[in-house]
Amino acid sequence: MKIVPISIPTPFYIGPVNVYLIAEDPITIIDTGPKTKEAVTALRDGLRAAGFKVSDIRRIVLTHAHEDHCGLARSLRDEAKNAQVLIHEWETGHRHSRLEYEEHRTLLVRAGVPDEEIVRLRRMYEGVRQYADSFADNEHGPLWDNAELEFESGSLRIVHTPGHTPGSCSFVREADRTIIAGDCVLKRITPNPVLSPDPLDPKKRFPSLAEYLVSLARLRTFAPTLVYGGHGDPVHDYDELFNRYIRAIQERQQSVIKLVGNDGATAWEVAQKMFPGTDDVHRFLAVSEAVAHLDLAHTEGKLALESSNTREIYKPL
Ligand SMILES: [Zn+2]
Ligand SMILES: [Zn+2]
Repeated sequence: MKIVPISIPTPFYIGPVNVYLIAEDPITIIDTGPKTKEAVTALRDGLRAAGFKVSDIRRIVLTHAHEDHCGLARSLRDEAKNAQVLIHEWETGHRHSRLEYEEHRTLLVRAGVPDEEIVRLRRMYEGVRQYADSFADNEHGPLWDNAELEFESGSLRIVHTPGHTPGSCSFVREADRTIIAGDCVLKRITPNPVLSPDPLDPKKRFPSLAEYLVSLARLRTFAPTLVYGGHGDPVHDYDELFNRYIRAIQERQQSVIKLVGNDGATAWEVAQKMFPGTDDVHRFLAVSEAVAHLDLAHTEGKLALESSNTREIYKPL
């Protein structure tokens, strides 16, 4: 079962995204690239170099529903005459009926994000949406944790690895302990645990960082020899990366606890101090990062959390 990485350009700060062709029946791609002309061209070129074309694709599997990963799924599916699209049920970004503005807005308000900033974030989000088509709920199938994606001469085990998003999935080829991990594992940067409503109770925040730590540890149990990430080069030494991530997360936790200070602070205030001068999408990611670390510190009993009006204030113990 041959795995062929194809690098696809994106208009985003992160740079190119990796799509993985599984060059065996049923011909499958894991992730698609964003909906841009440049991405389609790069994907066609990559498929051609491997001896395939879009119409050969029978299965489109999505690690998660961020635009750079799922953007082309619909047009590829249509061109490939109804190839099957599979994604975890906890993902929402690709749905017509995706968990919408109101739920996200509530989370941002609780994190202390000012109204005018929420309006700006909303506008920015609308701009990003143009890079992906959405799906009706009956147009995609589910990815189940621990199920297998079968191929002619082997299979990939589906491993639900929430954290970066609630429904993020990784795919493990146990024969040689190779993993395709989407944005769960990135060689050069620690993935952002994106602020999301909890799929099981959208009034709550998804405990993204706590879940992410579990996912990292779970991938480690496979003793991977090679991990293909959503961006950048593959990772050969997963243990080194795992330890580096854990250290980075611990250091960041200490700095957010310090930034909360004696008087307490909202996640927005902590984000402003942690990443002064950020703009655009980075402001949203900065709030996500702050909330994730503050929530984990709270869960671990290192910070208190109080609500005042609609806002939540983290306080020292
Ligand atoms: Zn992502
Ligand atoms: Zn990504």
